[in-house]
Amino acid sequence: MAEKRDYYEVLGVSRDATEEDLKRAYRKLAKQYHPDANPGDKEAEAKFKEASEAYAVLSDPEKRRQYDQFGHAAFDQTGGANFSDFDFRDIFSEFFGGDFFGDLFGTRSRRTNTGPRQGASIRTGVRISFLEAVFGTEKELELNLKDECPSCHGTGAKQGSSPVTCQKCGGRGQVIYTQQTLFGISQNIQTCPDCRGTGKIIKEKCSQCYGSGYVTSKKRIQVVIPAGIDNGQSVRIRGKGEPGINGGPRGDLLVDIEVERHPVFQRRDFDIYSTVPISFATAALGGDIKINTVDGDVIYTVKPGTQTDTKVRLREKGVPTLRNKNIRGDHYVTLVVQVPTSLTAEQKELLRKFDEAMRGGSANSNEYHEKGNSKRKFWK
Ligand SMILES: [Zn+2]
Ligand SMILES: [Zn+2]
Repeated sequence: MAEKRDYYEVLGVSRDATEEDLKRAYRKLAKQYHPDANPGDKEAEAKFKEASEAYAVLSDPEKRRQYDQFGHAAFDQTGGANFSDFDFRDIFSEFFGGDFFGDLFGTRSRRTNTGPRQGASIRTGVRISFLEAVFGTEKELELNLKDECPSCHGTGAKQGSSPVTCQKCGGRGQVIYTQQTLFGISQNIQTCPDCRGTGKIIKEKCSQCYGSGYVTSKKRIQVVIPAGIDNGQSVRIRGKGEPGINGGPRGDLLVDIEVERHPVFQRRDFDIYSTVPISFATAALGGDIKINTVDGDVIYTVKPGTQTDTKVRLREKGVPTLRNKNIRGDHYVTLVVQVPTSLTAEQKELLRKFDEAMRGGSANSNEYHEKGNSKRKFWK
């Protein structure tokens, strides 16, 4: 693949693909070739970059127009892909909820593969309760983490031996292919197939890590989850990802947060919503009721003559904001007037008396006949 592939072909969509088609196609490819799903697979990484570049261009209407008109020449003055033109971070945060792919692209992607490189990021997930999300919590995760092999110090070579420089690429990790094209000579840089980009060949493998340079062990990691976090957000823990390559820093650990549903409270952004039943008598006469909030029960005084579906706002009883836990959302309560369903004979008698009293008090009122359920009596 010396020639750059057509962006539509890369994504496997037609030239008149809609924004939604592009998104769907890219999402599928990105999942398939995701570097996290294909660790160490340079070909998958290349495919992932290719698809990301194609999507970055085609998802931007202005860039797409330029591409449709001029093809790759629209962006390709240097002979190589100019990744910095595209806002990959935006795309990744849209698709993956983080910017952890930033280091695959941008300025650092142009260094040679044999220099120090940051290790890959790891993703994991944790489930927390609704209230833990509101007030923050701490969780202990148990993860299998890679560490540099203590026997070979990450080289992968048997003790007493060391890796030798790759003959094919001279240790650079990349091979340059030159090709004659219509527009002149084009150079294409590819990962060295012999050493897979490491620049080194291991003749005798380390017996402890079987040449991988890493050993895996179970580690306990404390995750501090901030108050106000919401379902689908993630917490980044720096330096708890995969070990760096050639002395580079470790990658990060990303913990995706899944928040359990609460039987009473619902959340929208930093506000909480709930429904509270009140008795018919309290609604009519007014009185104090208990409302369950995330801070515990609060007493609320219902006004006389409160109708069903009345909304009440409890200020600052919502979720703390992530930036400042002292700033909180509100709690909105819907009061629902309950109609009693099972009554004792005595209660029924009292209600009949009440009904008669209401009738007597407003016998001449048309309003009462329309609003009250008086039909049964009327026809008796
Ligand atoms: Zn080893
Ligand atoms: Zn090589």
